[in-house]
Amino acid sequence: MLRKLAYATIALLAAATVLAWVNRDVLVDRAIQARLQQQPDRSFLTDKEHVRVLICGTGSPEISSAKAQACTLVSAGGKMFLFDVGDGAVRSLAHSKIPVNQLERVYITHFHSDHFNDLATLINAGWIWGRKSPLEVQGPVGTKQVLDGFAQAYALDEGYRSTNMPHLAKNRAVAFGVPLEITFAEGQHAVRVYDKDGVTIDATLVAHDPVKPALGYVLKYKGKKVFISGDTEVSPVNMDAMRDANLAIHESYAAHMVRRAIPQMKKLGMDFEATVAERTIPYHADNMALAKQAQEAGVKHLLLTHLIPYPDSFVVRQMYTENMAEHYKGKITVAQDGMTLVL
Ligand SMILES: [Zn+2]
Ligand SMILES: [Zn+2]
Repeated sequence: MLRKLAYATIALLAAATVLAWVNRDVLVDRAIQARLQQQPDRSFLTDKEHVRVLICGTGSPEISSAKAQACTLVSAGGKMFLFDVGDGAVRSLAHSKIPVNQLERVYITHFHSDHFNDLATLINAGWIWGRKSPLEVQGPVGTKQVLDGFAQAYALDEGYRSTNMPHLAKNRAVAFGVPLEITFAEGQHAVRVYDKDGVTIDATLVAHDPVKPALGYVLKYKGKKVFISGDTEVSPVNMDAMRDANLAIHESYAAHMVRRAIPQMKKLGMDFEATVAERTIPYHADNMALAKQAQEAGVKHLLLTHLIPYPDSFVVRQMYTENMAEHYKGKITVAQDGMTLVL
């Protein structure tokens, strides 16, 4: 009986193989068509009623299981704004089927590498994949220096591709971003950097010493307010930006976990890691202080990103927000790469 079954299985497999071989062209064509027919997610461009958010990166300089470093996409009025472009951001956006050649503008919070590691890749990909106009990159003073450096580094690539593809040669300027530097007058704390079709974006100084200037951004549309903190310690300077925000996409540092880990690092001879941990505590947003500030500011939803230490296990995830709810009565979410929100 068993032997009969084995023979029948072999015969069936052989028949399937012959059939697949005979129809291989059809199968290959079908696979090609399926690949070509994959459509981008256009909801971020077509939805003009809501503010849509895609968390495209939750990582930090820590080497972690996050798909990407700092990356937040916010769309409003059918325009897509990207806040920070850390390593892996472009792949993460592609994974979420975002048409990266149709961004309205990129905003950089500050020039720690985990916030712009993938910026050159983004500009280059936009040019290769049909972007019509040069991408505007707006950020603190230093934006021009960074873009000039990329332009130099990518000059050879631009030359080769332009030679090969006349349509790219015609669009040469798109291979390089347009730097727009944000400056503040003496004593000024916030400045409007975008105002079109009902969407406003304000840049606001945050506290990330010794990084100066470090910026956060406030986007408003149809009565909704979103604060993107960038990297900042919890500081009264952020109160205006946070006040009554429907959503605060805030960097987060579980200091209670790091403090607990430092003696263990030292015990294990990981003095280097212990020193790094000790030095990062003061210039990031301690979860507990952040919970208190979010409560005081009337934030409705606190979305934690730039997660340190990265909560890559169930236990760490549980510990990560421990006791925050005692101080903050709104909604707390620990972000994950690929998470979307509609406001
Ligand atoms: Zn960072
Ligand atoms: Zn930073």
